[in-house]
Amino acid sequence: MPIPPELGAYVGPAAIPNEASLARRLVRSSIDLSHQGIPLGLALAASFDLLVSIRYYNGRNGIQRAGWLWCQASASDIFVYNNACPHCVFQDRYFYVQGNKPESGTIGPATSGALRDLLCEYFAETAAGAIRVHKGREPVDIGLTDEDGQCILFCEIKSGPLFVPPLVTPHGGNFRAQAGAMPMAGNHQLGSLADAHGIHLSLLVPTHNANGYWHWNLGAVDARGNEWADEALRRSIEDTPNVFRDYVNSWLALWDSYCAKDRDVRRFWMTNACGRPRNVGEGWPVDNRGSPDKTISDPKTSVGMDRTDDIKKSTFQMLDIGLALKNKDANGWTVLVGLLSNLHAARHHQEYLAPYEHIIWGTRGANDIRNLFDGIISFSQITANHEWVGNVFDWLPNGEG
Ligand SMILES: [Zn+2]
Repeated sequence: MPIPPELGAYVGPAAIPNEASLARRLVRSSIDLSHQGIPLGLALAASFDLLVSIRYYNGRNGIQRAGWLWCQASASDIFVYNNACPHCVFQDRYFYVQGNKPESGTIGPATSGALRDLLCEYFAETAAGAIRVHKGREPVDIGLTDEDGQCILFCEIKSGPLFVPPLVTPHGGNFRAQAGAMPMAGNHQLGSLADAHGIHLSLLVPTHNANGYWHWNLGAVDARGNEWADEALRRSIEDTPNVFRDYVNSWLALWDSYCAKDRDVRRFWMTNACGRPRNVGEGWPVDNRGSPDKTISDPKTSVGMDRTDDIKKSTFQMLDIGLALKNKDANGWTVLVGLLSNLHAARHHQEYLAPYEHIIWGTRGANDIRNLFDGIISFSQITANHEWVGNVFDWLPNGEG
């Protein structure tokens, strides 16, 4: 039975899955890895970071030419996301560089779009189209519909990547130093790429078992189109045995260091929200009292839903969406509301979410009570207060919801 119009007004048309897309490739590769003992949800979370990253790499008209870092100690020019030279981080030396993190107005659509694409391809692959994914309309961010089960889930999204791999290209004739730029500490320079055609690109990924990094080699790439990164990454995963598995293993180690807030492993300084190292290198910005200022990545940066302001806002927004939509004429459909992210609030869940996650509310007395959250859903943890949520989001082993 089709969606009742009163509910359908809050979602756009269903997204159309694309078997040739990078998102579908990542879903299939994640499922393959799950047969080798890697948790499916975490492989999907690692995939999410790649989908967000390629939206940044693609640029408006190809790869961003400006904002590249030359580091004398490294063999590569580096397109840095956060505010430190990654090569030097792995030598335990911390040099401040203004990174290329996009404006927050760009990050929100990139992360929501990546989450929609990944879910759309996941359900196309595993549920044969029974679950459809829709872009939401205010105040809804995303809608999931199940026509057979007559269920609609309206979600609020709070999401952000754990790790955006820096892009690297070998030192060579392609780098142009920025004219008139201030000298930088530690033999670094900022500049731009002269040519984006046929450049040799890799992703810089921390190793999972040592204080170093490896290069995910993408080969010689024509980085001029606005979808070049999708194509380069998809081809690399298809053509390079085990490269995706190696990336996911690295990502799992990054996730562990984030959850444990382990500032003693160098890969920690490649995760978002890492803050500022204790021993910053020469040239690090100082405040007007001479104390170190600025961070590699602001601790308020959202990794998944793990930002206290986001959690507090979304708790109220769940109530707001619930009040707006749970009283609509549903014509036999079940209306659910949930909070959706790539990663659960690893550092703040216990304090900011756990006390509220099973709250029920009502406006007309005891016969009319509803869940505040029918689900709190991420690739790393699921709280299911409704059976449908527990059944549909099935990427975690039983008992880990
Ligand atoms: Zn460096």
